[in-house]
Amino acid sequence: MARYVYDFIEGDRSRADVLGGKGANLAEMTRLGLPVPPGFTVTTDACRAHLATGAPPAGLFEEVNAHLREIEARLDRKLGDPGDPLLLAVRSGGRYSMPGMMETILDIGLNDATVGGLAARSGDERFAWDSYRRLIQMFGHTVHGIPPEEFAHELAAVRATAGPAGPSAGQLRDLVDTYKKIFARHVGHDFPQAPHEQLFLAIRSVFASWNSERARIYRRQERIPDDLGTAVNVMAMVFGNLGPDSGTGVAFTRDPATGAPGVYGDYLADAQGEDVVAGIRNTVPLAELARLDPVSFRRLGEIMATLERHYRDLCDIEFTIERGRLWMLQTRVGKRTAAAAFVIAAQLVDEGVITADEALTRVTGAQLAQLMFPAFDLTGAPEPLAVGVGASPGAAVGRVVFDSAAAAAAATEPVILVRRETNPDDLPGMIAAAGVLTSRGGKTSHAAVVARGMGRTCVCGAEALRIDPERGEVAVGDRVVRAGEVISIDGDTGRIWLGEIPVQPSPVARYLAGELDAEADPLVAAVHRLLGHADAVRKLGVRANADTPRDAARARRLGATGVGLCRTEHMFLGERRSLVERLILADGPAEREAALAALLPSQRADFVGILAAMDGLPVTIRLLDPPLHEFLPPLAELTARVARAEALGEDPGRDGTLLTAVRRMHEANPMLGLRGVRLGLVVPGLFAMQVRAVAEAAAERVRAGGDPRPEIMVPLVGDVRELAAVRDEAERVLAGVDGAPEIPIGTMIEVPRAALTAGEIAAEAHFFSFGTNDLTQTAWAFSRDDVEGSFFGAYLERGIFPVSPFERIDATGVGRLIRLAVVEGRAARPGLTVGVCGEHGGDPDSVAFFAEAGLDYVSCSPYRVPIARLAAGRAAVAPTTGTSDSR
Ligand code: PEP
Ligand code: MG
Repeated sequence: MARYVYDFIEGDRSRADVLGGKGANLAEMTRLGLPVPPGFTVTTDACRAHLATGAPPAGLFEEVNAHLREIEARLDRKLGDPGDPLLLAVRSGGRYSMPGMMETILDIGLNDATVGGLAARSGDERFAWDSYRRLIQMFGHTVHGIPPEEFAHELAAVRATAGPAGPSAGQLRDLVDTYKKIFARHVGHDFPQAPHEQLFLAIRSVFASWNSERARIYRRQERIPDDLGTAVNVMAMVFGNLGPDSGTGVAFTRDPATGAPGVYGDYLADAQGEDVVAGIRNTVPLAELARLDPVSFRRLGEIMATLERHYRDLCDIEFTIERGRLWMLQTRVGKRTAAAAFVIAAQLVDEGVITADEALTRVTGAQLAQLMFPAFDLTGAPEPLAVGVGASPGAAVGRVVFDSAAAAAAATEPVILVRRETNPDDLPGMIAAAGVLTSRGGKTSHAAVVARGMGRTCVCGAEALRIDPERGEVAVGDRVVRAGEVISIDGDTGRIWLGEIPVQPSPVARYLAGELDAEADPLVAAVHRLLGHADAVRKLGVRANADTPRDAARARRLGATGVGLCRTEHMFLGERRSLVERLILADGPAEREAALAALLPSQRADFVGILAAMDGLPVTIRLLDPPLHEFLPPLAELTARVARAEALGEDPGRDGTLLTAVRRMHEANPMLGLRGVRLGLVVPGLFAMQVRAVAEAAAERVRAGGDPRPEIMVPLVGDVRELAAVRDEAERVLAGVDGAPEIPIGTMIEVPRAALTAGEIAAEAHFFSFGTNDLTQTAWAFSRDDVEGSFFGAYLERGIFPVSPFERIDATGVGRLIRLAVVEGRAARPGLTVGVCGEHGGDPDSVAFFAEAGLDYVSCSPYRVPIARLAAGRAAVAPTTGTSDSR
């Protein structure tokens, strides 16, 4: 028969699935011989059975009673005994900590008869009646949903009339009567006097609290599965509210905010745990306990040292002192800030408690990301104006501007570029701005990808914003913000405030940029140490996506060992756009060749710069990818210009020609249209010009004494014949350039057909690089520019996926294509180098997947390089942690 109840003396911490975290750790402390009040745990299995059927599983309460009898025998005290009653605490405790989300009921067992016994045994009548009123209040609220204010209101009235010593026993007895009336009025019957009935109802209501709305919301946020259920811990009550020699507190074995060594906590004399949580009275620092009760303080210190040694990590505890006797009510490996996580992991290595490998498992890429960005100091911050998608982290404050030119003009003053959405024309503005805010698009929109690439703070898809660039204003509800007004945006949480919120710079970012010494402070030293170890153990290389020498140099400082993706489209914007227009409008081969010849020198110069910045390291240069019409003005704009000219009887001139070209090139689905390798095959000479520029740049670097290592990458290949044709042409060009080193030619794998035919494609490719942005888009048939702003919210809400597949690699679907391509590619070409250069390359969870799938490197935006280094180190020491970075 299934077993649903375990005594604390039976379990241990390895059984958290069944006993919940709290129950498993209470059992562990009991095993260690620490002072834990006797008790037992009702399992998560029982909860799940209860949730499934709405009734407790058969035999549950008989089992509870049997365990209860054992505890009664051990304590020589009985539940419901009017002379000397045993009282019980009933507490929730799931597999993962969900602080304050589920229910607790204390003082179970008190009734009109036992309250006298408690008074006699404690010698404190006030305490007994106060405990009884607490029970009715907690039970009424938890089991029957009576609003807590109803009780709180009456309590406040009694307190107001009481003297400085608090309500008298008589007042509290009257209060109990009032509470009973409130109870009966709400529930329709009297407060249950039978202690066992109280206990069973309390257990059932704790089960039910698993599905309370706040618990569900918390689980969604923390990505805790909904089907785990909670365990219920039933424990003999110990009282911290029995006078000045009693009290209750919480403590951490180190400072959970900074990681600083030394115990840290709060204590409240003559109180129960929930008084601390409710903030009814102010706690004192734990150090005060040394003065109030030195014996208990010393014992507590010993216990904390025992726990830290045993758990080999920061522990937090809840304790109660009952008339000078110390009791442990809870412990667990404590939550901590990102900074404390790094500092504590490094300290524990120094103290010989854990190995450097283990230290890597104690910190996450997401924590390092948090530490790298400046953060807002939110003390006293007002309500946010609106909330969008936090798309590129950081805290940015600046004056609102609505176009790229205004952003670039305000060079000396920080500005926030506010756009409905951004396009490549906004690049100069994005570079100049401190942050970017859009009302449309999600985490893979243009604004998000480019901003992340530049390390620029970005909030996207703030749909509440009605942006009117023509009038120079943005409206949110009835509040209108005009150009020049200051706003603050938080790229982590997506929050937007009116006015300036103070910002704290990040010492970790300054250290990573080479501006601070590794020993600057304990946090920086810990990051230095752990990243160094990650580099030593990781098998996965980390390159950067960089399109400019500046980005390449920055990426190198941040630890990148190459450029995994140099997108060449940015090189055709700005002043060079007219040259691309010339190419598009060319009438005949001669004009086209002249246009290409005009583009060649600037392309070559771009590559020289990047190869110099990454001297001695690989630089993967991708041939032109986007549809050419992206370089022309938008159709609507041209149509309007031409119509205006015609209405005025003027000759539309060049606009007329451009309009004809844009109409000719218009595609309903440009992402699936004439782009990538297809462009190279239908626009004669385009790829050849780029290949020549790469080879000539490399030759120039060789002549200058450098060690250039370019690689040429072909985008959007779906069939080996596409690649073979480009490769033939490229090799002819390369053979004609003197002095260039060997230049490998490889392909992106970014459409499913390429993955499915990877064996054939590998025959023509020196390397593969997964373009997981397009691969996700094409495998799911999700338009990467649209879906995050349209239905992803609903999908996330309904749990269809826990996180956007553009953010974290979809390991089962897209990941399967990747695994297949790796295996079949390497079978066809042993030793084939395989990397990834989509946005996922900088996502810690995805990095773990890529390591496991056997890739050689990941490539990500420069600012994410340290995060990828850490994630790759973690993947090397704990490959089974898989996608667990987020928790
Ligand atoms: C990709 O598709 O993942 C990729 C890196 O290319 P882009 O984002 O430029 O399409
Ligand atoms: Mg792509």
